[in-house]
Amino acid sequence: MILQRVSIVELRIRASTGVYCIIGYPIAHSLSPVIHNYAFRLYGIDAVYVAFEVRPEMLEAAVNGIRALGIKGLTVTIPHKERIVAYLDYIDDVAKSIGAVNTVKNEDGRLLGYNTDVWGFLEPLKPYTSKLKGGSVLLIGAGGAARAIVYALKSLGVTRVYIANRTADRGLLMEKYALSLGLDAKYIGFDEIYMNELSRSVDLIVNATPLGMHGVGGRVPIRSDYINKDAIVYDIVYNPLETPLLMEAKKAGAITISGIEMLVFQAILAFEIWTGIRPEPKPLRDVVIKALKH
Ligand code: NAP
Repeated sequence: MILQRVSIVELRIRASTGVYCIIGYPIAHSLSPVIHNYAFRLYGIDAVYVAFEVRPEMLEAAVNGIRALGIKGLTVTIPHKERIVAYLDYIDDVAKSIGAVNTVKNEDGRLLGYNTDVWGFLEPLKPYTSKLKGGSVLLIGAGGAARAIVYALKSLGVTRVYIANRTADRGLLMEKYALSLGLDAKYIGFDEIYMNELSRSVDLIVNATPLGMHGVGGRVPIRSDYINKDAIVYDIVYNPLETPLLMEAKKAGAITISGIEMLVFQAILAFEIWTGIRPEPKPLRDVVIKALKH
């Protein structure tokens, strides 16, 4: 009975269907399957995208599995972005500089690694490039995403970056990386008063920590009365859509950018690397927002 109701057209997964995936640990809440499966349907591509929870000690086995099964492409997320580099056949220059890969293409058995977080971060800032050229930035966080952001800031022509981070070792490493790229960088600790003071003068404030994220909680300790109304405030956290930091920024009258934008644009570039098609952002943004609201 049930089989009769499913037409042959609806049986979308066939022997010829290409398989793409995301690997991470944990992975259950990833929105990447929503984005990519929607894009495959939108552009009429015979492919499916699934999520695999891969424990850190299983990474090498998982990469071997990807080769053996002929999985056509993958997204790589925490905690594998850095360690996967060792198992790939080629890494592009951006991923090499950052030391992390978030997108892999399987080209006839050769695994090619890219980092699309840089472009994903930059695209939403496109309307503000002239404002940011020669400008200054307060970057909160010094993890993997922050490293891609430092690279992106250099390519934007930003001059000065203040790095705020809870752990000094990581903050100082990020300062060293930014200096190596030619940025005028300074690690400032994680002092609330200092961060608020800097917020008065910088052109861009970026949160690259999970603070304010659904399920994590906490908040970036910057308040609206310290945020310059001409500044751009960019929170790469995407759940909730409006984080506590973005609420403060709105109160201050500043320009706000949600982490949804980076999520969508990094996926767009990954999709283009795999398929040669660059999807339109709007339908993907809409589908992600719908998924988040559910
Ligand atoms: P990561 O490498 O684990 O780094 C996490 C960073 O956040 C570190 O600087 C860490 O500081 C800081 N941090 C964590 N918990 C904190 C707390 N309670 N108080 C203060 N600082 C804290 O992670 P990541 O890959 O950089 O990702 C960071 C965030 O960005 C995550 O929420 C992730 O979901 C989001 N993200 C979004 C996108 C997007 O497309 N929108 C892309 C990538 C990442 P310590 O050094 O002191 O531990």
